[in-house]
Amino acid sequence: MKILANDGISAVGKQQLEAAGFTVITEKVAQENLASEVNSQGIEMILVRSATTVRKDVIDACPGVKLIGRGGVGMDNIDVAYAREKGITVINTPASSSQSVAELVMGHMFAISRSLNDSYKHMETSDFSALKKKYAKGVELRGKTLGIVGFGRIGQSLASYALGSGMNVIAVDLYTNPVNVKVPIGTTQEAEVEIIPHASLHDVIGQMDYISLHVPKQADGSAVIGSKEFALMKKGVRLVNASRGGVINEDDLIVALNEGKVAGVALDVFENEPNPRKDLLNHELIACTPHIGAATLEAQDRIGEELASLIIGQFARS
Ligand code: NAD
Repeated sequence: MKILANDGISAVGKQQLEAAGFTVITEKVAQENLASEVNSQGIEMILVRSATTVRKDVIDACPGVKLIGRGGVGMDNIDVAYAREKGITVINTPASSSQSVAELVMGHMFAISRSLNDSYKHMETSDFSALKKKYAKGVELRGKTLGIVGFGRIGQSLASYALGSGMNVIAVDLYTNPVNVKVPIGTTQEAEVEIIPHASLHDVIGQMDYISLHVPKQADGSAVIGSKEFALMKKGVRLVNASRGGVINEDDLIVALNEGKVAGVALDVFENEPNPRKDLLNHELIACTPHIGAATLEAQDRIGEELASLIIGQFARS
């Protein structure tokens, strides 16, 4: 069986699939040529990350496709229900990247607390002493309260890092069952902290010094953070969004930043990917990364291995 890994696959995942007898093609096919290439090469499985989309038109045009695989969590680039109705197996690898996303968020929280992003941009061209004065109002994470909105896999992994850094954690989720978060101490010991998520963001948002979003794209497309929520936040709050574009209303965010309500923002995801608004990219209080939450070597290996094992488990025997 031929597999097209159109957004790439880790070497280890590819090797495992090839060892099980699959042919894995990794040459990228342009979106507009996807259906014709799949048909002309006799491809039966399409693997994607977030770049390639597999919508109804591709599904209809490729009757030979048996499986669509998403390396990662969010499947908003695949018409999942439609594919399943047509008898196509659709898989993803939800747990493989949680730790990598959590580490990116920690990096962003440290960065926006000390204006690292803006400082890097100006070191070559600006006066050293003027910059030293400009960036003299950094803050520490230890002792601050982090609000984690969406307490699933990534939210819980982030809690583990934040607790380990001495932060207080408030979780918000639709589900309010207690969660035991494991906090590694070095590589040989572990502490456990129970966190009970709150159901209402509005009730607790005013206590948060940092807010990190880990909800999926909302079914109705609505923002979880907009003008109402900004109004309830502490002055000087810092925000990170490494979930999905649109979860923060970008117009309301710019207003809150310019009014001085928000002291710093980090965005890994944007409403208009892959062409984010320039006023977000150029804002001195916003640090941006190009949707790289899962882009570590370790996560990519885990994603490739998980895809390979799911495919081999279901299709290698037939
Ligand atoms: P998950 O399903 O494990 O957790 C999401 C949680 O959000 C669930 O517990 C759910 O109950 C909760 N939730 C949903 N809507 C909510 C709301 N309005 N208010 C409060 N809680 C709400 O998902 P996950 O694996 O933790 O992933 C979270 C997000 O991260 C997804 O959007 C995913 O697409 C994104 N993600 C981004 C990257 C990246 O590269 N930046 C990588 C992987 C995943």
